[in-house]
Amino acid sequence: MGGDENISHLTFSMLESKVDSRILKSLKLMGFLKPTQIQAKALPHMLLGDDIIGAAKTGSGKTLAFLIPAVEKLINMEFSKKHGVGCLIITPTRELALQINVVLKKLLAEINLTHSLLVGGEKKLKEIASLRKGVNVIVGTPGRILDHLENTSGFNCNNLKCLVLDEADKLLEAGFQKHISGIIRRLPKKRQTVLFSATIDEKVENLARLALKDNPKLISVKDER
Ligand code: ADP
Ligand code: MG
Repeated sequence: MGGDENISHLTFSMLESKVDSRILKSLKLMGFLKPTQIQAKALPHMLLGDDIIGAAKTGSGKTLAFLIPAVEKLINMEFSKKHGVGCLIITPTRELALQINVVLKKLLAEINLTHSLLVGGEKKLKEIASLRKGVNVIVGTPGRILDHLENTSGFNCNNLKCLVLDEADKLLEAGFQKHISGIIRRLPKKRQTVLFSATIDEKVENLARLALKDNPKLISVKDER
């Protein structure tokens, strides 16, 4: 993609050589023709396997900025049910998890990867049943993910390739540091980790230090589009 300072003319269809055609088709069906800035900037780094901190304000399209490359990665690695969890997406609230899950479902419409939602509430038995069938992408909240890692026999993330910390500032505001550390202790060290946040302060930097490899790429977008 060359220098990434001028990406305003980039369309999703120009990414044909980088992104699976089924992903491009889903994006088209969602009505998205052009990547937002954070999406265009995050994609090449994530596909290279870099750890990144993506900073862009609310509404800038951070969800697809991590979902597109995460799904692309698992397709490239030929993930299937038997490989288990390849990507874990941690977000602060049940509502945000549900929203991400809607987008993920659309993105995976024609792709043979399984996904599951792990959120607080009453559906734990359903979650356990789906985890036992083999789930490739998990979207969930910190407490419930840690609960399953600790208590659901047969479930683990030993084959994880990509950890996403979404809305990191809000994860910390909500007091989830300990849950996140607990989850990270149960993940393989060799993995890609990406952190997205509307704001970057010292607490978010500390979380990045805990979760990401040294010298992550900082991708920061001022205007939303
Ligand atoms: P953030 O996480 O940065 O707050 P979201 O990922 O929730 O932002 O996206 C904000 C809105 O932008 C959503 O309504 C989403 O559908 C829309 N959106 C995402 N990507 C694109 C795109 N490439 N083109 C147009 N709209 C988009
Ligand atoms: Mg978001």
